[in-house]
Amino acid sequence: MANQDDTFKKVISHAKEYGYVFQSSEIYDGLSAVYDYAQNGAELKKNIRDYWWRAMVQMNENIVGIDAAIFMHPTTWKASGHVDAFNDPLIDNKDSKKRYRADVLVEDFREKISEKIEKDVAKAKKRFGDAFDEAQFRDTNPNVKRRQAQIDDITERLTKVQEDEDLEGFKQLIIDLGIVCPLSGSKNWTDVKQFNLMFGTKLGASAESAMDLYLRPETAQGIFVNFLNVQKTSRLKIPFGIAQTGKAFRNEIVARQFIFRMREFEQMEMQFFIKPGTQAEWYKHWKETRLKWHLSLGMGEENYRFHDHEKLAHYADAAADIEFKFPFGFKELEGIHSRTDFDLSQHESFSGKKLQYFDHEENKSYVPYVLETSIGLDRMFLAVFSKALQEEELENGTTRTVLKLPSVLAPVKAAILPLVKKDGLPEIARTIVEQLKWDFNVTYDEKDAVGRRYRRQDANGTPFCITVDHDTKDDNTVTLRYRDSMAQKRVKIEDLNAIIKKEVDVRHWLEKM
Ligand code: ATP
Repeated sequence: MANQDDTFKKVISHAKEYGYVFQSSEIYDGLSAVYDYAQNGAELKKNIRDYWWRAMVQMNENIVGIDAAIFMHPTTWKASGHVDAFNDPLIDNKDSKKRYRADVLVEDFREKISEKIEKDVAKAKKRFGDAFDEAQFRDTNPNVKRRQAQIDDITERLTKVQEDEDLEGFKQLIIDLGIVCPLSGSKNWTDVKQFNLMFGTKLGASAESAMDLYLRPETAQGIFVNFLNVQKTSRLKIPFGIAQTGKAFRNEIVARQFIFRMREFEQMEMQFFIKPGTQAEWYKHWKETRLKWHLSLGMGEENYRFHDHEKLAHYADAAADIEFKFPFGFKELEGIHSRTDFDLSQHESFSGKKLQYFDHEENKSYVPYVLETSIGLDRMFLAVFSKALQEEELENGTTRTVLKLPSVLAPVKAAILPLVKKDGLPEIARTIVEQLKWDFNVTYDEKDAVGRRYRRQDANGTPFCITVDHDTKDDNTVTLRYRDSMAQKRVKIEDLNAIIKKEVDVRHWLEKM
């Protein structure tokens, strides 16, 4: 099995080679942690966004979507707490001059211990076979117990230094754990400092009158400040939700994981406004619902896990991440946060405007509580793309590279291929393109032998190939080839739209929720 680094490198190079993701301004040697989506990437990203939007907005009578501006009044970020508290602890290694997030260094160290435990468990499972009692092994094996105790101790200390904002304690923790810089291998660390992640900019023509602004670091605040406008104009009753997708900007300290952590990225967020006191039940509901959305894409239940937060943000009374098994291990993909009335109350007090809801059943006004689901579109892209990329051994001893994207998300749904470039076959293929393009994004390809064209479409993630051959002229049928199984069947040209629709339709996938 290829190691994690190799797998990840393959993902990055495949994304470039097949027109999914390019480095931004590559001809100028790129810009760190900024990426461009290419011809296929833009389609995949749009399809993921659409899959989310349909599940959230279209399928829920009580959720509506908005599209707020990236620029917001600067007081927004005072009220939200971002000006004072949107910081990450950073630390530099004096030998490599590399900068790290102190919390990530500790978390990665802890994750390595956890991986050792999983290795021990896997080994024992293999050795004992059916007789293996995993729970008992975890409870009693001395190595596992020692490592688990270490993990618990690290978690406790990490939570404490974060809660106390104890920067000296943070450094001490890194020293005590003997964490070394992955590049220089040295323990020569600077002190830990706080770093604000917001990008500043200016609004206005002249220097004197210009107003200091921030590029929004999250889309959520655009929803909170519009809460009452939306509620009044939609006449929605609590509980109801407001969804939004859009760009967010963070001056991330460390951004070395391709599109996992970017400085400009896109979020898909939904804020659900509820009656105070009902947050526990809605928290549970949205955790379950969001996991189901992920599972509907069929990327394997074993690749997801919940991580309940030990350290809660100042505004939250419960929070969990849905983590996904990326090529570099389990990492956060989505957050589900019970935010209480923090945001709306803060905006009330900073704006002086009431942001309350009149509850007719209770016959009183209150500031609603909020349940948030927040997922990074680019991270979701990476999850889907990295899981889909596979090297398959074939029966004839060769291998093929195949991008098994869920067909609902695939950028191109079908490739239409004339077997040869003559005898009127290209013309028939072109009429099939005309027939299909009203329903799906399709492509035409006549270059190279058909086997090579199949491989190219496999690597591109195209779920169907349609081959026009000489028999087509007689009986109006074509060969339909399935990307994943490579099965081929003969079908009528007139049936193509219906056959493809059945497989790639959002409904077919979302119904699995
Ligand atoms: P992390 O701990 O990884 O920095 P976070 O907890 O700060 O993430 P949130 O503020 O909860 O993230 O943002 C919600 C979602 O937005 C995350 O789950 C992630 O999918 C996405 N996201 C956050 N920061 C980035 C980034 N720099 N690049 C890409 N996606 C991001």
